[in-house]
Amino acid sequence: MAKIRVYELAKELKMTSKDLISKIKDLDLDINSHMSSLEEEEAEMIKELIEEEKKLNKSNNKTNKKSKKPGNGKEDKQKKHINDDNVDDNKISLIEIEDTIVVKDFAEKVGISATELITKLIGLGVMAGMNDSIDYEVASLIGEDLGFKVIKKGTTDDTEGDLKLDFEDDPENLKPRAPVVTVMGHVDHGKTSLLDAIRKTSVTKKEAGGITQHIGASIVNTKGNKITFLDTPGHEAFTSMRARGAQVTDIAVLVVAADDGVMPQTIEAINHARAAKVPIIVAINKMDKPTANPDRVKQELTEHGLVPEEWGGDTITVPVSALKNEGLDELLEMILLVAEMQELKANPDRPAVGTVIEAQLDKNRGPVATVIVQKGTLNVGDAVICGSASGKIRAMFDDKGKRVKNAGPSVPVAVLGLSEVPEAGDKLYVVEDEKVARAYAEKKKEEIRQEQLKATQKVSLDGLFEKIQAGEIKDLNVIVKADTRGTIDAIRKSLEKIGTETEEVKVNIIHNGVGGITETDVMLASASDALIIGFNVRPTLNAMDMAKLEKVDIKTYRIIYEAIEDIKAAIKGMLEPKYEEEVIGRAEVRATFKVPNVGTVAGIYVQHGKITRNSTIRLLRNDTVIYEGEIASLKRFKDDVREIASGYEGGLGLQNFNDIKEGDVLEAYIMKEVK
Ligand code: GDP
Repeated sequence: MAKIRVYELAKELKMTSKDLISKIKDLDLDINSHMSSLEEEEAEMIKELIEEEKKLNKSNNKTNKKSKKPGNGKEDKQKKHINDDNVDDNKISLIEIEDTIVVKDFAEKVGISATELITKLIGLGVMAGMNDSIDYEVASLIGEDLGFKVIKKGTTDDTEGDLKLDFEDDPENLKPRAPVVTVMGHVDHGKTSLLDAIRKTSVTKKEAGGITQHIGASIVNTKGNKITFLDTPGHEAFTSMRARGAQVTDIAVLVVAADDGVMPQTIEAINHARAAKVPIIVAINKMDKPTANPDRVKQELTEHGLVPEEWGGDTITVPVSALKNEGLDELLEMILLVAEMQELKANPDRPAVGTVIEAQLDKNRGPVATVIVQKGTLNVGDAVICGSASGKIRAMFDDKGKRVKNAGPSVPVAVLGLSEVPEAGDKLYVVEDEKVARAYAEKKKEEIRQEQLKATQKVSLDGLFEKIQAGEIKDLNVIVKADTRGTIDAIRKSLEKIGTETEEVKVNIIHNGVGGITETDVMLASASDALIIGFNVRPTLNAMDMAKLEKVDIKTYRIIYEAIEDIKAAIKGMLEPKYEEEVIGRAEVRATFKVPNVGTVAGIYVQHGKITRNSTIRLLRNDTVIYEGEIASLKRFKDDVREIASGYEGGLGLQNFNDIKEGDVLEAYIMKEVK
């Protein structure tokens, strides 16, 4: 006997499959309503019954929206949603579901048959029967494909594009975690030595012989407590991570050499830690040196707002010697103390969330990323997304190079199994499975691609020429190249501020990037009349040559403040046009005359160029400037003239100056506006 599919029948009856199925249930027929198809006989019977009921309803003028609503497939279904949810016509229909939804129910919602849906699921690699449940994420992917927006019940906000991967933990589930520490300070003050010394003190005898794997961070055990140290000292890494929205550091150890005191990078480090609201512990290093002067260090720290505890402030300072392994225990103790005060906690029993601190491509193992787990526990086998990479954790290694199966909060692990190399600062999230991870990563990649597309459009030559030709706004175009993202970010912020301070000038960062100044940058600068600012980076030789050729101004700095000051000056130059003198002629004084009521007048002979009435005169005697001033009178014979050209003689008087002598040289110049 022929079979009729439920959705086909529903179509015929102008209703949704879901409504039809519930109708069948209501009719209390001896039919398995989960079946996707009906016997022909059954179908006929149902059809008759439903049509009869419809007629009845019509005559009764009863309006039971749910069962009466005509529905023939997707279009009507969409309309229904629009009506139901009161969404305006241009918007995509919303479908609200729980964490999971049964395949056939979801098929109803999106107005396709369960079989069609199952086929789509197979396409996504999800094997599910019509009575199986699918996850919200999978549902939303398919929904999106069909022009629906699937949202979780209870989430009223717009979650589109915003992947819901993280969630707040119930305070009850939070457990203490180890602090994550960054060591900062001025170059040569002993950051690296201190880190090494600390690591050595904590190495147990068993591990002593073993090779410590460099993974970018290490755990130090001290009296039964753990501290995670980031291996990359300095504030650059710290800031660039922060610029990317990632903050893994809980405490900053500021290393200051006792014999050198607070230096520029010390101050920068203080500022960076402050900006990140990270508590600072000062390690006064090199105490073994005879020239060590910890009091001077404390004095200087006080000047920068870090008042030592013993001086009534709240900054902990610890005298140490990385060289002699002195004071290290106390330093570690202080770190634990500060950590305790911070009440650092995380829920270890949930899908992990972490941050990449470094990553590279390993010839043999593929992409390797060191992740500091921040919440939950990361397990081998977990499906993850990480920046635009996805994958399944194939293996994990701890800081001692040992294979581990899981890593909890504050634990750094090198993970294998990602599809590509993520960037430092990228977040890692554990998701349901690899397919979901892949789908997320694809979406992320598309987002990144779009961003890049936008970026190239911004610096396209056409667009810039248009802007310049439009000429209504005075733009200062700037290209910023720097060694870290963080620096670029800082410069951008400062430049934006300049823009708001001076209404007349708009500062445009037309391009920015990490790395040296290249020919491409110069090309772009030349085409768009831009200034290139390099921060801790230098132009390549070719770029330098090209800049000379194209008359592109390249400025390099090591301190952000200086760069900003220079730009401010450049803007002022733009606000008040800059003038430059242009020498237009030279004349020789051949005689002088005293004229009553006028003063001394020089008889001159113009040797080069010309002398004009409006030019300024510089009087030179033996190549030394004696006087500079305006012309009082310029005559040829008895007549006032506007200029005297080269090869001619004339008379010239200077305003308020009579000490003109035979043999003096008069240089005439005018001030010209520099474009
Ligand atoms: P970083 O640039 O801050 O990482 O500094 P380093 O750790 O490379 O140290 C710079 C120099 O200072 C090296 O020559 C170290 O041997 C020396 N140094 C570091 N700590 C100490 C210390 O406690 N005492 C003395 N005397 N020298 C130290």
